This record gives sequence, structure tokens and C-alpha cells, in this order.
Amino acid sequence: MHVRRLSLAHFRNYQRLDLDLTSRTTVVFGDNAQGKSNLLEAIFYLATMRSFRAHSDRELMSWGLADDPIGFTRIAARVERSGEPLDLEIILREEPRRADGDLVTRVLAKRIKLNDVPRRAIDVIGVTTAVMFSPQDLGLVEGAPLLRRRYLDVTISQADRVYCRSLAHYNRVVIQRNHLLRAIRDRGGPPDQLHFWNRELVSAGSYIVSKRLATIRLLGEVSRRLYGELEGGAETLTVGYRSSIAAGDVGPDWEGEQIATAFESRLKDLQPREILLGMSLVGPHRDDLTFQLDGHDVGSFGSRGQQRTVALALKLAEAEHLSTHTGERPIILLDDVLSELDPSRRERVLALIDPAQQVLLTTTDVQALDGLAPAGATWLRVSGGHIEQTSRESLPSLANRA
Ligand code: ATP
Ligand code: MG
Repeated sequence: MHVRRLSLAHFRNYQRLDLDLTSRTTVVFGDNAQGKSNLLEAIFYLATMRSFRAHSDRELMSWGLADDPIGFTRIAARVERSGEPLDLEIILREEPRRADGDLVTRVLAKRIKLNDVPRRAIDVIGVTTAVMFSPQDLGLVEGAPLLRRRYLDVTISQADRVYCRSLAHYNRVVIQRNHLLRAIRDRGGPPDQLHFWNRELVSAGSYIVSKRLATIRLLGEVSRRLYGELEGGAETLTVGYRSSIAAGDVGPDWEGEQIATAFESRLKDLQPREILLGMSLVGPHRDDLTFQLDGHDVGSFGSRGQQRTVALALKLAEAEHLSTHTGERPIILLDDVLSELDPSRRERVLALIDPAQQVLLTTTDVQALDGLAPAGATWLRVSGGHIEQTSRESLPSLANRA
């Protein structure tokens, strides 16, 4: 997988950008708040149709654009996949929509094209694959369960279209079922109205849980090895899954039937409580990914450095998982992560990345990367939403030292 050309219009602080990315490794450097993360965000967005940090697509549109009736945001790329060129384009535009009467509301329209043919987001997720490493990854280990669920879902969806669809279906089922639970609570009526939605919940939910378990088995094994390589093998990392469908942890080897049976029986147990709260309490939307070092939860007990290394090992494992699953090496996006590491860990991380992969890394400190970036790397200086290509030799701080 290689992004050959990236074009942006009115994306965050980029008014216009046309960038050729020829080298395997690209170093993006510049002061704070110039547009380094925004550039990586654009590439990640093309792969996952999601930002790694925005809550809504509106945040991606350049400020001031919302007032411009014909303005739009465009994110486009020519990507090479298995030697074949692909053109991806996303247009975000505020469009007026007439609601009841004369009231006009503005809605955000998202139009996606693959090779000039309109497509739905769900059909283009995973056309390109990317793994983003960012300082926010720490949140994966010590943050809320929602972040870990989202991480798992985005990761699996990149490699598995069916999962992506099932998840969208499952989320609709949860909403419908919650409506019904509230209706039963507020207006009464026999709880057996829930049968239909229970069946839907269990069938879509069990599939999601089984896919998550399978992915965790793979990611867990690879992360454990990578954690050992990064840290020198002092402790052992275990990645697990805590599920609301069982009172205790579900076993890593649980499969379809076993999952569905546990799910049903837990639903039965919790039904009165679900009606009381008007909320679905059982299912993958309430589950969590867990990380332990020698049996201790890393989120609660791990040091900052350990948490960081666990997140790194997980992301590196994800890159391996995507490679084996899709037959294509994902694009590696390293946003500001190397500067947080000590020099020897920095070296070990780069050594673990496949040199045949496209890598884009950002830094405010070019000197920290001197000697680590490969000789053929491209050096891009970012300043105020503009990018200028330079050569390593022309960077004064490095040239003086050479
Ligand atoms: P740092 O080194 O601090 O991480 P950075 O180069 O990664 O900096 P970015 O996160 O890419 O910086 O942000 C660059 C600038 O883009 C910031 O000043 C930010 O305020 C601005 N920005 C963010 N969203 C928008 C938007 N929707 N429209 C215009 N500018 C935006
Ligand atoms: Mg940044």
C-alpha cells in the first residue's frame, strides 16, 4: 500500500495541497501547530473514513468554510495497491435541506468516489489500510472502554467488510431495543415483545464478539512478542476481552455456539434490570479489551512508560495483522511518537517496522531523527498549512553535525 499523491482542499489548516509521496519513508517536520498531525489525519481518514481525533466530520472542514455556501472540503489520493493505482476522493459539504414548512436546516453531506464511481463509506473502508500511532494511544490503555471498543472496531473493519456491516446493523438493533425497553417500562406491556429484538441482538452481537475474540487472539500473541522485544522481556503482556455476555471473563477460545448461549442466558438474567433502566446492558457495546503485565492491569498499575510500550506493541501487532489479513502492508503513520521515547527504544521501534512499508512520521525535532531515518527518506517542512520539500543536507541543524 502506497499513497502516491495526496490532494487536499479546505481540510483543517490546508487550503490547498498537492503532494507527491514517492519515497517509502517521509519525515514531516515543523514547529507546533503547523499542520503535521492534520496531514497524517487526512491519510488515516482515507483508510478508515474516520478521524483519529475528530468527533465529527465537520471538524475537518477549514474554519470559515461553513459560511461559504459553495465551499467544500476535499480529501483525495492516488493509492497504489498490489501495483494497481486507485483514486479515492471524499467531499464534505454543508447542504441546505428543507425540513417541515419553510425551515431550512444544513446537513453535512459526505460524498465518496472510488475511481470516479460514487460509493458508500462502508464500501471503501479498508480499500487502503493504515495504522496510526499517536500520543493519544495512551488512552487506549488507560482511557475509557469506549476508546478500546472503537479501536477494535476500526481495526477489524479495515480488514473485514462483513464485520463493518454487522456492526452498523448491531448498533441499529441496540437503538431499537432500547426504545422498546423504555416503552415497556413507561407504558407497560408484556416483555415477550422483546423476543424479536433479543434474537437480533444475540445473532449480530455473537458474531461481533466472536470476530473480536479471534482478532484479540492474533493481536494478543503478536503484541506479547513485540512487547518483549521492545522492553527486553522483563514482564509478559496478556491481552484479553472482558465481556458483558458472561459474568466472568470470556475464554479466549470461545466460539459461536458458546457465545450465543452465554449471551442468551445473561439477557434472561438481566431483563428486569434492562427494563428498569430502559437500556441494553448486555452485548459487545458494553465490552472491553484488557491489558495485563504479569497479571496486573496496565491501565491501573502500569507506569507511563509501560503503558506507552503496550500501546506501541499493540499498534505494531495491528500492522502485522492487517498485512497478513489483507495481503497488503498498511501505511504506517507515526505522529509525534518517537520523540517521547528514549533513543534506544526509538531505534527498536523503527527496527520493528518493515522497511518495505510506507511510513510517514512527524516530529518537531529533526535532530532526534538524524541517523534513524533511512537514506532515501523525503524530508518535508510544514509551516502554516504549506509544505515544502527539502533535503536532509539542507537542514542546517543536521548539516552542521555531518
Ligand atoms: P504539534 O506539533 O503541536 O502537534 P501540528 O503541526 O501537528 O502541531 P496540527 O494538529 O496539524 O499541528 O494543527 C495545525 C493547526 O491547524 C492548528 O493551529 C489548529 O488550530 C489548526 N486547525 C485545526 N482544525 C482546523 C480547522 N478545522 N480549520 C482550520 N484550522 C484548523
Ligand atoms: Mg501534532
